[in-house]
Amino acid sequence: MATDQDASLASEVLAWFDAHGRHDLPWQHPATPYRVWISEVMLQQTQVATVIPYFRRFMERFPDLPVLASASLDEVMALWAGLGYYARARNLHRCARVLVEEHDGEFPDDIEQVQRLPGIGRSTAGAILSLSRNERHAILDGNVKRVLARYHAVPGWPGRSRVTRQLWELSEQHTPAARPRDFNQAMMDLGSMVCTRRPACHLCPLQSGCQAYARGNPMAYPERRPPRERPQRAVRMLIIRNSNDGILMVRRPPQGLWGGLLSPPECPPEAEPMTWARENLGIEIQMQDAAPPLRHEITHFSLLIHPQHARLIAPITLRDEDHVWYKPGVSLSGGLPAPVQRLLEQKEPAI
Ligand code: SF4
Repeated sequence: MATDQDASLASEVLAWFDAHGRHDLPWQHPATPYRVWISEVMLQQTQVATVIPYFRRFMERFPDLPVLASASLDEVMALWAGLGYYARARNLHRCARVLVEEHDGEFPDDIEQVQRLPGIGRSTAGAILSLSRNERHAILDGNVKRVLARYHAVPGWPGRSRVTRQLWELSEQHTPAARPRDFNQAMMDLGSMVCTRRPACHLCPLQSGCQAYARGNPMAYPERRPPRERPQRAVRMLIIRNSNDGILMVRRPPQGLWGGLLSPPECPPEAEPMTWARENLGIEIQMQDAAPPLRHEITHFSLLIHPQHARLIAPITLRDEDHVWYKPGVSLSGGLPAPVQRLLEQKEPAI
């Protein structure tokens, strides 16, 4: 149910729109569902000024839905070239065909059916139906999210479903029954002209009710994406020395971390190292103290290497060239991964 606060936001935004909003965008004249749809998809990741010439060229070549549906994908892609995010163009073309084949070339009246079309999400569906047919549907594009998150000081990053749900509820509440087309356009305009990343609050019609403004920190809303936690991976490496102080190295499998390079053997964390070495390397070893772990950052994860030093006690003949005794300081064909190099610089613990 609309509250006084909802009604006041709508009336203030609409009054501002009448005086300062954008009334002459090419897709507003005429604002058919087809033209609004094309503009909305083009605007998803792109500024209005960039979109306008693309929109005009697109309309010259594909003036209506049947023409777009009968065009080849290559032609559509050619007119999209430069706008980026090409999945949008492919979905647009697929959607035009679905509309012609399954909906007589018209956008359905039911918003849920519109949302099921290729490349059309809830906000785009709401925009198509409200901006073209003046139906009351809420929208929540990036601009509207920013205005609402600030106006209500909504905590949290909008990428989280709880926050998105809250913003959708607010957008639904504020969307008025009267002039929904103008209201949605007004909210988008306000977000892109006034309540921008660095908002011009002194020009904003919502200043008196805006909670973020009252707190003096509009730019804290909406919250930014929290830094992603890097996944951690831990390995245990056996640093096995022979009586000549050679260190046992094995060739790593071609796929995976440091594929094809040499490194000390990796012993699974759950295995008992002496047994594992006997069964997998054919050698007898005596364990020494564990050395401190070494952290290494790799593009997608953080690797923690636990070195476990050991001495060879039963001599062996290495089975093939994939096992070598490496003498630190002597260059090695094939190279060593940098963290392994650092690992080998560690002092050998006492037995
Ligand atoms: S007062 Fe400032 S922060 Fe609040 S909605 Fe207006 S421009 Fe955005």
